Amino acid sequence: MRLVVSDIPKEGLEQKLELSVKLNDNVEPDVAHASLSISRIKKRVLVEGSIKVDTTVLCGRCLNEYSSALDLTFREEYNPVEEISKEDAHELTDAEMGLGFYQGDEIDLAELVEEQILLMVPMKPLCKEDCAGICSMCGQDFNEKRCECKIDEVDPRLAPLQQLKETMKNRKTS
Ligand SMILES: [Zn+2]
Ligand SMILES: [Zn+2]
Repeated sequence: MRLVVSDIPKEGLEQKLELSVKLNDNVEPDVAHASLSISRIKKRVLVEGSIKVDTTVLCGRCLNEYSSALDLTFREEYNPVEEISKEDAHELTDAEMGLGFYQGDEIDLAELVEEQILLMVPMKPLCKEDCAGICSMCGQDFNEKRCECKIDEVDPRLAPLQQLKETMKNRKTS
């Protein structure tokens, strides 16, 4: 959905939109509901809005899918990219291109909403704060039960003791 900047009326405008976003690769795209209020001072466009998405996320620790409801608000100012480059000769980075700038006389609202969502999706989502994760050997979900695997992790402070035990054992057997 494209917003033509010069068409934004003086009193601003309200815009609701619904779009599907793909937040991960193993499930159906999710539907995001955004409600935006847009105002403009000359070529400066201010977008305030709230976005809601019910989504399914993969836990970064136990790899289980869980549903999470994203509910975010944002306030972002958009400036024409031409103006910026005139004032300031530095090359625009990707981040600058994607955030807060528009090209020509149009702002792609769907893209804008998608960007806001991606900013808010945690990089390492957890199904719960104290998710116990899974066993690196057999894949057992520790949130359900422990497994029988013995992961050799000797506390470094106890290592000398461990060594002593081994020596004693060896002495006994020989
Ligand atoms: Zn988890
Ligand atoms: Zn295990």
